[in-house]
Amino acid sequence: MNEAIYDAVVVGGGPSGATAANDLAVAGRKVLLLDRAGRIKPCGGAVPPRLMEDFDIPQSLLVARARSARMISPSNRKVDMPVGEIGYVGMVDRDVFDEWLRERAAKSGAERRTGTFEHIERDENLGTLVCYRSSRGGEIEKVRTRLVIGADGARSAVARQNIANAERMPCVFAYHEIIKSPETDSDVFDGSRCDVFYQGKLSPDFYAWVFPHGETASIGLGSANKGFPLREAVSEMRHELGLGECETIRKEGAPIPLKPLKRWDNGLDVIVAGDAAGVVAPASGEGIYYAMTSGRHVAEAADEYLRTANPKALKLARKRFMRDHGKVFWVLGIMQYFWYSSDKRRERFVTMCADKDVQQLTWQAYMNKRLVRAKPLAHARIFLKDCAHLLGLRAAA
Ligand SMILES: Cc1cc2nc3c(=O)[nH]c(=O)nc-3n(C[C@H](O)[C@H](O)[C@H](O)COP(=O)(O)OP(=O)(O)OC[C@H]3O[C@@H](n4cnc5c(N)ncnc54)[C@H](O)[C@@H]3O)c2cc1C
Repeated sequence: MNEAIYDAVVVGGGPSGATAANDLAVAGRKVLLLDRAGRIKPCGGAVPPRLMEDFDIPQSLLVARARSARMISPSNRKVDMPVGEIGYVGMVDRDVFDEWLRERAAKSGAERRTGTFEHIERDENLGTLVCYRSSRGGEIEKVRTRLVIGADGARSAVARQNIANAERMPCVFAYHEIIKSPETDSDVFDGSRCDVFYQGKLSPDFYAWVFPHGETASIGLGSANKGFPLREAVSEMRHELGLGECETIRKEGAPIPLKPLKRWDNGLDVIVAGDAAGVVAPASGEGIYYAMTSGRHVAEAADEYLRTANPKALKLARKRFMRDHGKVFWVLGIMQYFWYSSDKRRERFVTMCADKDVQQLTWQAYMNKRLVRAKPLAHARIFLKDCAHLLGLRAAA
């Protein structure tokens, strides 16, 4: 066993873990970043400009910038939502993006190791021990630490073993295929546009997408319905869009958690962040920004805990995250529950997206990551239009 005592062992080197490790290392803490290498995280890779600013990410990591989103209804009605002057939707390739984040953490002073977390042991004399299977010989190694940060994704072993009810986290299962992008843009595929399909045949309770990534593109969908044939639906979608012949580079899937856990810490020596804590925005499935934000809150709370030795400090992470994003998650949760539940409602939802006020508020909320209060009149107009749609007073076109 390695005799060094770490301030924190971060399990998982995705956006949440790499951010937490970097922030703690910058704060002067002794950090070990443990990651099970070898698999690129399946992900659409869409990120807001706010992420680039908040986390000091170089623009060179963006492989594409989408300038509009096209919403497609069950009847194939297409509504384009231009972003306008206020920004773009950035696209990152997760193999490059995640490695860049891990390397930054290492440059800030975090030690990197490759291995798979197994479990935590608590020894009267040695304290908290993280046990992991080393990538070298496959044998179990143990390290001593004051705190364990579980950033090991949606089916987090750290959370399931240490946080009450973590195994009950509701999830959407998402599947996508990475294809070579068509060489020229057309109405069907445009390298500067994200296409979002609200069609029950492609997803009975979520949505399907085509996201441009420069030379490649991600085509995928999600559903919480366990029996839904995700692969077949993507294959049908590619066929219908005329993208069936494009070279397939990867096929992969993973769960997306849909609800933040009620507790992120065990009141002793473990705290979780990112997908492990369930922080993905409902309705959109956006998780990268929230993973990094929660990683930062967890690092701050961890630093406070290490300074005071008071485990209550760990609670600050969830409290601060929910203060900033709880309302947005709540509104998006209601949206998903209501608008994604039938093709009739999806049709109305896409019709609503043609409204300029709706477009402006949607993009402002996406760019700024908060509910926008600046235009009370626009809110009132949207509320009235929303009610009219809900009551069926405005027919879906
Ligand atoms: C198909 C799909 C499309 C998506 N599209 C988008 C999108 O376009 N935009 C967006 O914002 N979000 C998207 N998301 C969500 C987003 O990918 C996640 O919310 C985000 O990756 C969460 O980051 P994380 O660091 O918490 O976890 P992860 O990115 O899952 O990272 C977890 C890390 O932990 C490591 N690990 C796991 N188990 C262990 C272990 N036992 N020991 C050691 N290491 C371990 C893994 O190797 C990985 O590096 C998508 C998700 C899916 C599945």
